[in-house]
Amino acid sequence: MTSWRVTAFGKPLERMVDETPQPVGTEVVLRVIAAGVCHSDLHISDGYFDLGGGKRMELAVRLPRTLGHEIAGEVVAAGPDADVELGARRVVFPWIGCGACALCAAGDEHLCARPLTLGFVRDGGFSDHVVVPHPRYLLDFGELPAELAATYACAGLTAFSALRKAAPVSDEHPLLIIGAGGVGESAIRFAHAVYGVHPAVAEIDERKRENARRSGAGTAYDPRDTAACKAARQDAGGGFAAVIDFVGSSASAEHALAMVRKGGTVVIVGLYGGTLQLALPLVPLRALSIRGSYVGSLRELEDLLSLARSGVAPHVHIERRPLEDAQAALDALRAGNVVGRSVLGP
Ligand SMILES: [Zn+2]
Ligand SMILES: [Zn+2]
Repeated sequence: MTSWRVTAFGKPLERMVDETPQPVGTEVVLRVIAAGVCHSDLHISDGYFDLGGGKRMELAVRLPRTLGHEIAGEVVAAGPDADVELGARRVVFPWIGCGACALCAAGDEHLCARPLTLGFVRDGGFSDHVVVPHPRYLLDFGELPAELAATYACAGLTAFSALRKAAPVSDEHPLLIIGAGGVGESAIRFAHAVYGVHPAVAEIDERKRENARRSGAGTAYDPRDTAACKAARQDAGGGFAAVIDFVGSSASAEHALAMVRKGGTVVIVGLYGGTLQLALPLVPLRALSIRGSYVGSLRELEDLLSLARSGVAPHVHIERRPLEDAQAALDALRAGNVVGRSVLGP
């Protein structure tokens, strides 16, 4: 088994070769066909999140660790207690919880306080093989391309779950999406496919604005352009009913609060880092809801894949790269040079 692993925080990934794992109990081993590269992989390889004001949240990642939580693969081995068909092609739900707490029991394993997330707490998909603890985390992606299906496990799921939290979304309840990278692009396409709307998009990069327009944005503007912001707010009837912030920086969250209308909802998804200064009386006076959204549940990924299999969920732009390019793909993502999603594969 060849894997690209974090061996020291802030250092390039290292290629490591180990024995191919043998599954025990309910474990399943997949040969990795596709592994998406996500911004979270950058944070994990750095070992911390930037909380703003010079503060950091250190991540409890044991090293070495194989990154990669957007995984599609083929089942090649199963433990004696794993009821799964060899040769089946599956997407992996990576947001695995302890299985014993109230959140896990309610189906919110992705919010478990003792997570076993693949590519974070356990080894992930920047490898030719991956171990999944139970077949219930394996979902059928039908005839979809494996590269696309893999991206649904994080980018797609994150977009899908955030949109559900922003609902209702309609022409009368206009939606603003901030940030049109891979996840934002998915949300633009879902907004159209699932709710039949063309959301407004705020994005500082002209190439990503172009891509957003092609993906179904009604309008795409530069949030630093005051006149464009004013026009977008006017077009939305004085403000947006829901704003999803896929950046999560001080500037993007401030923009979200400036663009949301009274009684509206701001959903913060991005993990760029920073702090938010907020005049508290405005929260009750404007009856604002501010909520976070972190990936999504197993049930939501099932719903998303069934939409995708029926042709409703959108395709995102995918840059295919060989597994050996894992570090180069991370570097390109850090530099902001990825339009859509990079996916590693053999
Ligand atoms: Zn991710
Ligand atoms: Zn749990």
